Amino acid sequence: MPEIKSLGVIGAGQMGNGIAHVAALAGLDVVLLDVKAEALDKAMATIAKNMDRQVSRSLITAEDRDAALARIRPGTDYALFNDADLVIEAATENEAIKAKIFQALLPHLKAEALLASNTSSISITRLAAGTDRPDRFIGMHFMNPVPVMKLVEIIRGIATSDATYQAIDALAKRMGKTTATAEDFPAFIVNRILVPMINEACYALYEGVGDVVSIDTGLKLGANHPLGPLELADLIGLDTCLAIMKVLHDGMGDSKYRPCPLLAKYVEAGWYGRKSGKGFYDYSQNPPVPTR
Ligand code: NAD
Repeated sequence: MPEIKSLGVIGAGQMGNGIAHVAALAGLDVVLLDVKAEALDKAMATIAKNMDRQVSRSLITAEDRDAALARIRPGTDYALFNDADLVIEAATENEAIKAKIFQALLPHLKAEALLASNTSSISITRLAAGTDRPDRFIGMHFMNPVPVMKLVEIIRGIATSDATYQAIDALAKRMGKTTATAEDFPAFIVNRILVPMINEACYALYEGVGDVVSIDTGLKLGANHPLGPLELADLIGLDTCLAIMKVLHDGMGDSKYRPCPLLAKYVEAGWYGRKSGKGFYDYSQNPPVPTR
């Protein structure tokens, strides 16, 4: 399979901007698309700010930054993807939204182009089956924040070809990442293990076993985790954590995956964590203040 040179990214939120950032530094031409023009402005500003930080830490040069920024083209029109060798979908964790995106995208894609989803939990096989190219469809699950985290989890759908798998594994390595390969079962490897732990931390809070600070301090100092589970939930996004628990609960049919009602309550309030300014902590204050 020829080398992937031109990349499309759909969804310019926390993950999409990180994927565009790392891909552009690896020398790929990137088109970044979102439904919201303001999300694109915010993403381009975030990428520039994060690359500035890498320059100040001597991780990249100012020339690398300028060249990478010039390789990212933001837009809202799917016609911008007509030259893409690969499109990675990184929009909101909602299967109906993702299915609609693929339907809008397909008429604009080259026949040989590959498709990937950055979904945290949704079946790759089912997303692929809704497209014209299940053999060229794969899960490419980056971690948050993408420029910092070393792992890409690669998920093979039941129809994913070996050539597609090898092309995506090679691309992830070109982007400086280490890969782990998962079979296509609900939430794959990382989130199958991580998000039920976060959900359990929400239950501990809900049942009054401990407050936010005690739960996070307990896991940071007692289990040597770099972030407490509630801080981590705020970083991932509480809407995304809830969506993953629902996929696990539906997909495994096991009550041990029932989402915590307190997590659902925070999401109902629009308290999604860092990206909305408030979750288990209130980020309008420095240092952030626990909300329970
Ligand atoms: P986010 O809320 O920060 O961003 C989602 C973006 O998708 C928004 O900018 C939104 O405007 C855009 N969007 C929504 N509908 C769209 C449409 N129809 N067309 C184009 N763009 C659309 O979410 P995120 O944290 O970046 O997550 C994105 C994906 O990455 C999800 O599938 C999530 O599960 C996955 N993921 C998230 C994390 C994490 O830690 N947050 C880690 C790995 C994977």
